[in-house]
Amino acid sequence: MPRRIHTDAIVLLRHELGESDRIVTLLTCDQGILRTVAPAARRSKRRFGGCLELFARIEVSLVDLGAGKLARLEEAVLRDSHEAVKSDLLAIAHASYLTELILVFWKERDEAGQAHRLLGDALSRLDRGPMSTQEIRRFELDVLALAGFAPSLDACLGCGTNNARQWVFDHDRGGIVCQSCLTQGVGSGPRNEPVTPSVLRLLRELQKGGRVSFEAAPQTRGAARALLGRIIQGYAGRPLRAREFLRQLAGKGSG
Ligand SMILES: [Zn+2]
Repeated sequence: MPRRIHTDAIVLLRHELGESDRIVTLLTCDQGILRTVAPAARRSKRRFGGCLELFARIEVSLVDLGAGKLARLEEAVLRDSHEAVKSDLLAIAHASYLTELILVFWKERDEAGQAHRLLGDALSRLDRGPMSTQEIRRFELDVLALAGFAPSLDACLGCGTNNARQWVFDHDRGGIVCQSCLTQGVGSGPRNEPVTPSVLRLLRELQKGGRVSFEAAPQTRGAARALLGRIIQGYAGRPLRAREFLRQLAGKGSG
């Protein structure tokens, strides 16, 4: 049964379809991610105006034809084009990366109300310029938490201690293991890697929200970025294109 829907959405992706149509992937506030077709969007500029540009926040009316089918976009009203984001290459790269993250962790029609809010807030933030590396890390941690994959960083998965001199992050278990548990075989699988106490401290503070209480050294920030990247890649099953681009833009050791 076709279902008429009116909702708020953010444009995540757009592709050309045939000679005049456009396929637009939307993150809606209450219907999850929906793939829609905007009929004649390329021929008639008037119908959808600038609504179907990347990152735009829009109010849409669409007809949902059911799972596995493209919903049909009927009408769209622009709420925020995030023009400022598009005037800065680094801000565009950030917005592309945040968008790709959402597409990794939410499939079509998954409940994604909180992801919609998180991305909407981040795009509004990007209107004021590119994010800091800490803001990007925090967004990554927020996405992992909302998707149910928050890395367990507070205490050793083996013995529960939160105070050890040496740690590893065990990707198979999604959390940290202390050195003494590791020597007893806990978290000794092939997918673990050492984590320094300073990287752990930085990630713990970022995960809790609020301000980071210390000035992390560049190599600490770089190691935190790399670890989170491997955690995300583990779930995605592939490197994220936009993250790779961001790394090239920002140069080695940052981004
Ligand atoms: Zn332990």
